[in-house]
Amino acid sequence: MPASITSLDQVVSGLAPQGRERFDRLYDFVLSTAEVRPPGAMDGWITKAFRYLSAAPPDTQAWREEILERIRHQRVVHVVNRATGQATLFNAVRALRPIEARDESDVAKKVEEARAKCSFCRPLELTPANTFGRIGLDKTCANVAVYDGYHGLVIFKDHSPLRFRHDDFRPEEIADLLATSRAWAEKARAEDPAARFFFLMWNCLWKAGASIIHGHAQMTVGRKFHYGKVEALRRSARAYAAEHGADYFADLVAVHKALGLAAEWDGVTALAHLVPTKEREIILVADRFDAPGLPKAVWRALKVYAAQDVKSYNLAVYMPPLGDPDPAWKGFPVLVHLVDRGDPSAATADIGAMELYASAVVSSDPFVLAEAMKKQSD
Ligand SMILES: [Zn+2]
Repeated sequence: MPASITSLDQVVSGLAPQGRERFDRLYDFVLSTAEVRPPGAMDGWITKAFRYLSAAPPDTQAWREEILERIRHQRVVHVVNRATGQATLFNAVRALRPIEARDESDVAKKVEEARAKCSFCRPLELTPANTFGRIGLDKTCANVAVYDGYHGLVIFKDHSPLRFRHDDFRPEEIADLLATSRAWAEKARAEDPAARFFFLMWNCLWKAGASIIHGHAQMTVGRKFHYGKVEALRRSARAYAAEHGADYFADLVAVHKALGLAAEWDGVTALAHLVPTKEREIILVADRFDAPGLPKAVWRALKVYAAQDVKSYNLAVYMPPLGDPDPAWKGFPVLVHLVDRGDPSAATADIGAMELYASAVVSSDPFVLAEAMKKQSD
């Protein structure tokens, strides 16, 4: 049996003593079985909706019984990062769902319909500039309604945000994005030296929060202190080091490697996150923003997403402040987060009260994601 999130107990008990100790200081988990009692009238609906739960020949008695048994006793794994408090609930019934290629035509049609009135296709005429102008003639603009004192966008050459799914999508495009966003942030800091806290993000399609369809990333540079979640991670890592005498980020990587949840991409470590914030979360760990392998690693992550039929995602970069090294941020790496936001044609939001206030609820299995990631390695 290949490793899976629902057999996390077995994977963890297979760790060598030192690896087990590291796992235990960073993570905790609990397995539950939810007992569900559907009435007979639901049998037909259940076997249709959860037909993938049995590998037996469809419509046989064995097939029906296996599906119903799996629905009657559902295994749930709740994992928590003890240092940061991040937690995720995995449900076996949901985690076993196979990747089903969905129709792209609706999304592609919406993308094309937006082209006629697209301001990002004509940035010099229809987008505002920042006080310091633009990077590379027309690669960046200011946001019309800002998040923060400095807020800009990188406008991609291609209108379609689904470009990452095309065969000719190249790592150089990511390298250009990273360099352009960094140049923009440095312009902001040159104007105001207190603006040091650079945050780069990319919302792909409406499902991920994008209000404009044309492919774009966004940058902010905060003043005085970093954005709350980045600062919270810095504090958690410091508290962890003080309590355990161990480096939080080194442990994060080592635990993922020991569990088989990591891949090495061009000098960057890619993690299939054990406590994902939502579906298929990948975290890239690099020693600096301009690490030579980082663009290609981001490109590889997007190739993995394309292969898994992801259409809508968020990308977010955590990094220490710009400028001279700040002792308060010593040892804090560059972390690139990517997360799948689900089917853009689904009418429901992928997060609700549970995710906003309690714990992430995730159906994709990080062990399955890790196998796909390893195939992306050279
Ligand atoms: Zn456009």
